[in-house]
Amino acid sequence: MLKIILEGHDNYYGIGDVVRLFYGPCREDRENNAVLCDLGPDMTLISAADASCSLPINRQVKRDLYEKLAQITGISLPWGCLTGIRPTIVAQEEGFDPDALVSKYFVREDKARLACDTARLESEIARSAREKLNVYAGVPFCPGRCEYCSFIAQDATHHLNRLHDYAGAMITEMNELAPFINETPGTIYMGGGTPTVFDEEDMRAVLECIAKTFRAGEGTEFTVEAGRPDTITEGKLIAMRDNKVSRICINPQTMRDETLRMINRRHTADDVVKTFELARRTGFDVINMDLIAGLKYETADDFLYSVKTLADLDPENITIHTLYKKRRAGMSREDVLNAEGRGDVDKAVREAYELLTARGYVPYYMYRQKDTELGLENTGFCKPGTHNIYNVAMMSYECDVLSVGAGAMSKRAFKDGRYERCPNVKDVSLYMNECEKSAEKKISFFDLRRRNGH
Ligand code: SF4
Repeated sequence: MLKIILEGHDNYYGIGDVVRLFYGPCREDRENNAVLCDLGPDMTLISAADASCSLPINRQVKRDLYEKLAQITGISLPWGCLTGIRPTIVAQEEGFDPDALVSKYFVREDKARLACDTARLESEIARSAREKLNVYAGVPFCPGRCEYCSFIAQDATHHLNRLHDYAGAMITEMNELAPFINETPGTIYMGGGTPTVFDEEDMRAVLECIAKTFRAGEGTEFTVEAGRPDTITEGKLIAMRDNKVSRICINPQTMRDETLRMINRRHTADDVVKTFELARRTGFDVINMDLIAGLKYETADDFLYSVKTLADLDPENITIHTLYKKRRAGMSREDVLNAEGRGDVDKAVREAYELLTARGYVPYYMYRQKDTELGLENTGFCKPGTHNIYNVAMMSYECDVLSVGAGAMSKRAFKDGRYERCPNVKDVSLYMNECEKSAEKKISFFDLRRRNGH
């Protein structure tokens, strides 16, 4: 068992994060000031605070432990000792200097450059988003479950009759809020799940209510995560266009039919292309498309084929996700790192970025999920000037997000630096019974009566 004894600090959380990167799950033993990891080698290490180091202590102890474990295992990781979900925040703190990320945190050069390039654009976008309200409307239903998905969505095939009632509940929540919304939001995002799971009539009704309540069209960025091509019809696209939607997402995840079948997506690569062309004909000139690196049925070449096929379609935005993968019980860190294809994912992601850069895309937002293998990231790319403000605003601690729908999380940034959250109830049935209450909660949370002169 690996035992790390903490001396002069209590950063159990950060030490645990670094140990997990190399060996897997660990636990705290606060009585003995230690972090323990059963999957690590039999040894005891000391993690000591060093007051002479220029880094804050919490970071210095992570850096020192990372350096020791990298030496012991012979493994270095793409993001070095950075374990947080927002490496761009560190890049910003370090003055967008890639060399600082390399020397202080052992970040690999290509990731350091990516973080700094992304952070520059991300911080500009966040600045532009701070003054205005951002709105999220959530539809936690999907037309079947994709094999890799960890999102808690309702399988719409089992709940067809509830979709109409859910649309009604969202409309009720927005109607309750409407008298208190006397400002034009900067962004609106209808996400899920899969919002286009509604039938055409409900889709139009919900879109009309969003557009009316939140004044879409008055310069507001309005995105619909249309998602799976098998749910997108011409009628729904027209309803979106009529209600001033300015950006849609059509998400293939892969352009290989065989993989699509294996991951339980009920559409083909050809459906993706046809839906994309239909969306263009309907008038959408900003389209995002998502891909996933690391799907277990694919090689690096398969993934790169999808990237190239999408880049040939020339959408304005392409988002590359790296599959979040929980380590299987009993699998050691070496097993994971040596598992067939793991190193390939890292290389494939790198090549994908090079291909997108060569086609004129730039990275504009980035986040990591906890426990992603190799700690790889998700990155949104855009053609210059076509970035999505909402994607940045919802991650920023400086922007307000007012959210409607079951499980939707509202966030409020206060002038004194406080940042508070207000969740809607997750359970769909409870939400449908309590949608008026959800609205009332937000009216207080955002102080809408005072803010808008009631
Ligand atoms: S469509 Fe998206 S949210 Fe729904 S199951 Fe598939 S990956 Fe998950």
